Amino acid sequence: MSKDPHTSPQLLVVTAPSGSGKTTVVRHLTSIFDFLKFSVSATTRDARPNEVNGKDYHFLTQEEFHGKVNSQEFVEWEEVYTDQYYGTLKSEVQKIIDADAVAVFDIEVNGAANIKRQYKDQALCVYIAPPSLSELESRLRNRGTETEASIQKRLRRAKQELERLDEFDLVLINDDLPRALKQAEKILRKNFHQHLS
Ligand code: ADP
Ligand code: 5GP
Repeated sequence: MSKDPHTSPQLLVVTAPSGSGKTTVVRHLTSIFDFLKFSVSATTRDARPNEVNGKDYHFLTQEEFHGKVNSQEFVEWEEVYTDQYYGTLKSEVQKIIDADAVAVFDIEVNGAANIKRQYKDQALCVYIAPPSLSELESRLRNRGTETEASIQKRLRRAKQELERLDEFDLVLINDDLPRALKQAEKILRKNFHQHLS
């Protein structure tokens, strides 16, 4: 890493239960801060209609994913839902660090805690909290991307993840979206000021 890790984190980890708004927050931040580069995860789940392979995710078969697990190509990986694997590729993180940019991750709570354990102060972990579980449910429904079974498994996992917000560096409550986005910008300006010219 080329920057002094004691003065400037090189990783921004955005975590939350599914449906809380982390993708919305990450997209907003990457659209306004050029120094942020999205770390494209690998997954075995099917692509949603609007998703692009290599941009939103690297969509892999089960065989391809497990091949990369065996050859130790992941910084971290999780079976987030039964038979649905997600993981952060070492090559993605290295590419971003080599470009002297800040890697931004949109990952679930176990993966975020794992990255924090490995990178310590070099990673800033922001937990996006929904105002309530019922609001989370209605966001998942309104997004229109999940089957009923998928909504139910996401809600089951969300209940456990909501208990873990004190494990992270900062908590951002995503209630009113414009306010939450402004708050996220403020967090970036404060913690990554060395990347702002
Ligand atoms: P995640 O990446 O955490 O699964 P998304 O960013 O996809 O969550 O957000 C879930 C849904 O909720 C999306 O349809 C998004 O447009 C919507 N959403 C995000 N933030 C808010 C908010 N503050 N109020 C209402 N809807 C929101
Ligand atoms: P989705 O299917 O909604 O895109 O993602 C499901 C969950 O997996 C989300 O909480 C998302 O943040 C998480 N996720 C995405 N990529 C990764 C990754 O590389 N590692 C881990 N641990 N979780 C991920």
